[in-house]
Amino acid sequence: MLDIDHCLNKPPNYFPCDRCAKACDRNAIIYTMMPKVIVRDVAAVIVSTGFELEKGDVLGEYGYGRYMDVVTSMEFERLVNASGPSSGVVVKPSTGEEPENVLLVSCVGSRNNKHNDYCSGFCCTYLLKQGIYAKVLHGIKNVTIMYMNDVRTYGKGFEGFFDRALKEGINIVWGRPEILGERNGKIIVRFEDTRNKKVAVNEYDMVVLAPSAKPVNDMSKLSKILSISLDRVGFVRTDPTNPTLTTRPGIFVAGSASGPRDISESVVTGLASAIQAIRYASPGVIEEEKYEETIEPYPIRVGVFVCHCGTNIAGVADVPALVEAAKQMPDVVHAEDLQFACAKSSLDRITEVIKEKKLNRVVVASCSPVTHLRFFQDAARRAGLNPYLVEMTNIRNLDTWVHNDRKIATEKAKDMIRMAVAKVHHMVPLQTIKLPVIKRALVVGCGPAGLAAATGLAGAGIETILVEKADECGGMLRRLNSLSLRVLKPENCLIGWLRRLERLVLSLCLALRLRMCLGSQVTSTWFSVMVLSLMWGP
Ligand SMILES: Cc1cc2nc3c(=O)[nH]c(=O)nc-3n(C[C@H](O)[C@H](O)[C@H](O)COP(=O)(O)OP(=O)(O)OC[C@H]3O[C@@H](n4cnc5c(N)ncnc54)[C@H](O)[C@@H]3O)c2cc1C
Ligand code: SF4
Ligand code: SF4
Repeated sequence: MLDIDHCLNKPPNYFPCDRCAKACDRNAIIYTMMPKVIVRDVAAVIVSTGFELEKGDVLGEYGYGRYMDVVTSMEFERLVNASGPSSGVVVKPSTGEEPENVLLVSCVGSRNNKHNDYCSGFCCTYLLKQGIYAKVLHGIKNVTIMYMNDVRTYGKGFEGFFDRALKEGINIVWGRPEILGERNGKIIVRFEDTRNKKVAVNEYDMVVLAPSAKPVNDMSKLSKILSISLDRVGFVRTDPTNPTLTTRPGIFVAGSASGPRDISESVVTGLASAIQAIRYASPGVIEEEKYEETIEPYPIRVGVFVCHCGTNIAGVADVPALVEAAKQMPDVVHAEDLQFACAKSSLDRITEVIKEKKLNRVVVASCSPVTHLRFFQDAARRAGLNPYLVEMTNIRNLDTWVHNDRKIATEKAKDMIRMAVAKVHHMVPLQTIKLPVIKRALVVGCGPAGLAAATGLAGAGIETILVEKADECGGMLRRLNSLSLRVLKPENCLIGWLRRLERLVLSLCLALRLRMCLGSQVTSTWFSVMVLSLMWGP
């Protein structure tokens, strides 16, 4: 994009010229260049597209848009920032004067059933940071932080921030503010001080609102392109046991794309997703033990194993009755119960029975296949049975953990076993096939999470494409004030950290391991995640 502020045709006379093309000794300015679609094969994708701040009506409820001196926390970040619009001097947008009395308000739109019922995670702590800036670094006389709910300064060292704010003389109150109007350049705020049980009306020179962190507005489109699920709010849905796994193998998520995360958490999830993408892009390190398939898949002979799981299952459902019911089901030639089906002795027993009774379909009625199917498949494989002829039904988590009525739980478990037995009749032996893997990964979004993931991948030797829709990388960090949340010390400066990362990015780009695509977006995928077309900016 040509930028009018930097146009060499001064004053612009609107007659086309070629001064900038001549001035660029790298020949990087090509007037005829158009956006183009590029297709790349990748083995893994990392979604690190971050978050957006609430813009909706909720801000209007607190006077935003009506009174110039009601600003968002991000606008305040820019005001306290030396590279911001007022060169780091905090000024009232209405008059340009320095304020003496500032109110910062938490939870604007968050933890609120009318708007967003979840917690935005990082605002309680950054409000303390902004309060300390305002008071200590900018000398604003009266700084008040109003918490609408409790204060959530989770994270190492963050409670120290709260103590420091009190020590610096910041006024912390709990209550819900109502903006009554504006008088003589002051914002009039009424609130109920819920801890001291009194209603007060105060005047402030400026009010700073901390809006909810929301999913980026094109998240739904991107999720359809990548075929991943979103949660009810619209953030990327993740595996409860691993916050970097999406609902689709090979696609990982980092940072605030899956819900609000502060910078250090974003970086940690960025690196964790990079490690998983590396594993995905370099499989075959662990070779599976080979077994010969000796058991014929037909005619169908089903074996059913019902687990007690101590008292988890047997304490609620009638396990012997389940075994008896299973024996009556079609083609079931063997049914038995096991105290702990996943114990080594039980797995050996399953292998032994499969061999002895020539079972060619196996149903294990126990817990979740996500965590345990692999064990029972291995037991079948060791017996010479194709592992894809094993099915699990989760009578623990989905039945005995949720019903405490013995009769209901037993009848439901019988139904679940019946369904599993019906299903194994339709199963056919499958073979694992090996596909060549392209050693290339794609990272979408270049905030702290994306930068951490991309440098982790490229540093480990995986060719990486980093796609960023804006014209520069850094995400929200570009707009945040330079001191980090962790400690107010210059050596922890965010911009310094970003610069160091940018230098690493540059060296990886020069080594041809990382390709940065600014002003670009993913437009479509074909054949699972293997091929992606990207919209390159000019
Ligand atoms: C006012 C405020 C102050 C804060 N202060 C602090 C602080 O002091 N310390 C702290 O730890 N945290 C702070 N935070 C939180 C911090 O902003 C986040 O932790 C951090 O930005 C999350 O990083 P991320 O990489 O996940 O997302 P982002 O920083 O949002 O980066 C995502 C990137 O992805 C790009 N993108 C989005 N969609 C696409 C797409 N479809 N294709 C390509 N690119 C795309 C975006 O343009 C952006 O560059 C603050 C937040 C706010 C709002
Ligand atoms: S982090 Fe604090 S301010 Fe932000 S939504 Fe949660 S409770 Fe409210
Ligand atoms: S297989 Fe599952 S249900 Fe059975 S003992 Fe192991 S954990 Fe419990």
